[in-house]
Amino acid sequence: MSQRISVAVAGAAGRMGREVVKMVLEDPELELVAAIGRSSAGVDAGSLVGKPETGVVVTDRLEDALQSAKPDVLVDFTNPKSAVPNTEACIRHGVRPVVGTTGFTPEQIEQLDKQCREKGIGGLIAPNFSIGAILMMKFAAMAAKYLPHVEIIEYHGDQKLDAPSGTSIKTAEWISQTRRELRQGNPNEEEVLEGARGGYYNGFRIHSVRLPGVFAQQEVIFGGHGQTLKIRHDSYERAGYMPGVNTAIKKVMSVTGLVYGFEHFLDD
Ligand code: NAP
Repeated sequence: MSQRISVAVAGAAGRMGREVVKMVLEDPELELVAAIGRSSAGVDAGSLVGKPETGVVVTDRLEDALQSAKPDVLVDFTNPKSAVPNTEACIRHGVRPVVGTTGFTPEQIEQLDKQCREKGIGGLIAPNFSIGAILMMKFAAMAAKYLPHVEIIEYHGDQKLDAPSGTSIKTAEWISQTRRELRQGNPNEEEVLEGARGGYYNGFRIHSVRLPGVFAQQEVIFGGHGQTLKIRHDSYERAGYMPGVNTAIKKVMSVTGLVYGFEHFLDD
């Protein structure tokens, strides 16, 4: 067997982080060498996910873990505030970042890309690791060429920190590449209640619903003469993202610079 890819997981005790730890432990081509989390520090990473002890103990000291475990890849599912310094530290140590945390600004992504290139390593920031969501974005971009009147509604659990979601922003970016420039709606429209028309992106609107009981869904609605077209994606569980994260860990080993979007890892 060729050498295993060594992986560290930041946010190991989080909902996504636990799935990543489990997935890494179950893949013989990957080796878990570090797990980073604050409230779970001191706990064995295996026990954390209901598996036998691994000898990898969760630590709250990211830089020390990168220094001593020297992973090939750091997978980050933390929060928008922690993910930027985590990724910077990761690049400084020559470790390739695979970031699922959402909420990065275009300026931050540009900066991190520069840092990766200076270090001669690859990395990935992916607002969505699910194949169905990527297809939804592709189909939305196709439709926007012919039906330029569009709105996005995204639904997530009420504890999500960033709004709109990273996926909806990515969808809006894709749509903008094919949609003709158009400020849709009535130019005299007035918001009687602030925010009623949602967030403005390049001439169209994004609406964020936050409710307990919801996991992750998105609808892209196109309007035309006497018709609407709806493209909808529903995620039901976190394990559904893991084939994407697994592919990303393996493919990030052979790229240089920071790739933004999992779609770039799908076809080759
Ligand atoms: P979560 O359950 O709140 O987990 C986040 C974890 O990060 C917590 O366990 C937290 O624990 C830990 N954490 C925070 N700061 C940290 C730091 N500096 N170092 C190490 N650990 C830290 O959230 P989640 O549902 O797993 O989601 C995590 C992120 O992934 C969110 O941004 C979400 O939007 C995104 N997400 C992305 C995808 C995708 O496909 N890309 C899919 C689902 C979710 P402590 O506070 O104890 O450290």
